[in-house]
Amino acid sequence: MADAPAIELTGVGRRYGERWALRDATVTVPAGATLVIFGPNGAGKSTLLRVLATLLRPHTGTASVLGEELPRREWAVRGKVGLLAHDALLYRDLSARENLRFHARLHKLGEERAEQLLEATRLLPRADDPVRTLSRGLLQRVAVCRAVLHDPPLLLLDEPRANLDPAAAELIEPLIGRESGRTRVITSHDPVGGLAEADLALGLRNGSQALLGPTSEIDTAAVEALYR
Ligand code: ADP
Ligand code: MG
Repeated sequence: MADAPAIELTGVGRRYGERWALRDATVTVPAGATLVIFGPNGAGKSTLLRVLATLLRPHTGTASVLGEELPRREWAVRGKVGLLAHDALLYRDLSARENLRFHARLHKLGEERAEQLLEATRLLPRADDPVRTLSRGLLQRVAVCRAVLHDPPLLLLDEPRANLDPAAAELIEPLIGRESGRTRVITSHDPVGGLAEADLALGLRNGSQALLGPTSEIDTAAVEALYR
């Protein structure tokens, strides 16, 4: 039997106050696949990721993530998703090592996993500095470590390479790239790179789905049109 989809959304909507930030999102992502979400600033990309991460509850529709229905089973989903968001979700006065150890304890993991990730992302020389003293690129590497620490089967990546130079982007590739073997949802503003690294593409405009399909059937012009 084929695996159940990693994500199944039907008519999912979410508003902030009176304003709808996301309307009628209906998308299925098979286990192991990558979904890229395109759309201009304010289109609803981060809102959708927050719904999947169980940080926001949908106001309409039904959502199931890794076989668990939201919001009823959100506690079960939380342990199985890794979110990389704009705000790095780190304690700024703590060091990278302290942040990762803290997070490891929450997931009942030992300290070795944190050390292994600090080494893999070449953060060891700065591992004991408060993260508020790190450059945006280094901070992003710590945030990646935090997102994958508990080895989540589903990664939610909000513009994961935004602050990274090519060398740093390469460094985190084994952790968040396709080779990580995880199901991934990635937001991107790069039509060529985004389509190349994903199996499915979703385009949002003013909170509504303007584009959806396999990346093999979507060309860059259709993605660019979202931004006009
Ligand atoms: P994107 O990630 O595509 O830039 P967002 O999901 O962040 O878009 O935002 C979608 C819409 O919701 C925008 O109009 C934005 O201003 C609004 N919005 C986002 N977060 C909040 C919030 N915390 N409170 C009120 N409105 C918000
Ligand atoms: Mg956003």
